Amino acid sequence: MRLAIIGAGINGIMSGWALLEEGHDVVMFEQADPMGATSSASTKLLHGGLRYLEHGDFALVREGLRARAWWLERAPQHTRSIEIAIPVYRDSARSRLTLKAGLVAYEFLAGRYRLGGHYWLNGTDLLQRVPHLRSNGLRGAYLFQDGQMNDRALGNWALSQIVGMGAEVVSPVYVERIDTDGVVVTSQGKQKFDGVINACGPWAAALLQRSNVSSRHGLDLIRGSHLLVARRHECGFLVESPDDARPCFVLPYEGYTLIGTTEVRQALDEPIECSEQEIAYLSRVYEAFFDDKLEPAGVVSTFAGVRPLVASAEREVSAMTRESAIECQGRILTIFGGKWTTSRELGLRVAIMAHDWN
Ligand SMILES: Cc1cc2nc3c(=O)[nH]c(=O)nc-3n(C[C@H](O)[C@H](O)[C@H](O)COP(=O)(O)OP(=O)(O)OC[C@H]3O[C@@H](n4cnc5c(N)ncnc54)[C@H](O)[C@@H]3O)c2cc1C
Repeated sequence: MRLAIIGAGINGIMSGWALLEEGHDVVMFEQADPMGATSSASTKLLHGGLRYLEHGDFALVREGLRARAWWLERAPQHTRSIEIAIPVYRDSARSRLTLKAGLVAYEFLAGRYRLGGHYWLNGTDLLQRVPHLRSNGLRGAYLFQDGQMNDRALGNWALSQIVGMGAEVVSPVYVERIDTDGVVVTSQGKQKFDGVINACGPWAAALLQRSNVSSRHGLDLIRGSHLLVARRHECGFLVESPDDARPCFVLPYEGYTLIGTTEVRQALDEPIECSEQEIAYLSRVYEAFFDDKLEPAGVVSTFAGVRPLVASAEREVSAMTRESAIECQGRILTIFGGKWTTSRELGLRVAIMAHDWN
């Protein structure tokens, strides 16, 4: 079949990968730079997501941990394993026991794809390793292994793989409308395909709306921002925000430290950028755990992306906690949501659903 993919973020690229493996022809339309939107504004973790365990989403965590192994093995040049410390204080919202249970479950779910066992460091040993960590009330920390990537470079590597397999990338071209017979309308004209994959990330629901195609799912758009600061840390940290106890990451990244992330409701017509309030929130996170003050000049850059969270008409079902959904309307498959780490699995599901178009 000849298939169109709208959107060259990681979900579009990995859908293309799976469809090419099945012998289809793939044409990708991208309005701006491939890998230039949400997929290069992530926290850069290849992970199962420890926090999903708090919601009992074991299947999701397991899928993420297996997917992590796939990326680490396939593209070691853009990925690595990273040690992350979870400091425990007298006033931490999550107790040592809760964290221990979470880490045991995390490693159990990884099975043979486990990256290494977690361990406990008491306060004295931890401060020897990280002297500028806040010592007041410190009990110690759990340290565990997870995956880290350069998201843009890894996504571009995946893109080069699918171009090598024969994908055609048409960019920059804005897709105005699609229809359920497989027609794609751009400023350059109309083209008919055997099927269309709507992989527009945060813009997926808007494309359907513009095309007058109704869907059961929608998207809640939540911005997440990060700071890149001129600090060097040997390992990563998963800490609780002093404002609301949300988990935040402080991670070594490309010679800097990455701090994130926030959760702010976002409209599609607003600029996707880190606000002053978010800079202040993330600085407070950092300064609550490390002795050095973050001067404004220490912030090298900021970036923001919009999480496309699946919202369903059937609100009472577990749909709100689902990371992704793929909905079919005639010859359109729309991807709602999805994590970077599990984009390969999402792509494989897209390819299976596309069988129905044969
Ligand atoms: C703050 C934040 C942190 C995250 N951290 C992690 C993490 O650490 N690990 C993890 O696994 N996941 C993480 N995620 C989730 C992950 O980044 C996203 O789920 C994933 O990148 C979404 O990819 P996508 O391809 O669906 O969307 P995008 O990357 O946004 O791609 C969609 C593409 O479609 C294009 N497009 C849109 N409309 C049109 C149109 N009309 N015509 C042509 N092209 C169009 C856009 O330009 C864009 O390039 C994070 C997300 C956020 C927001």
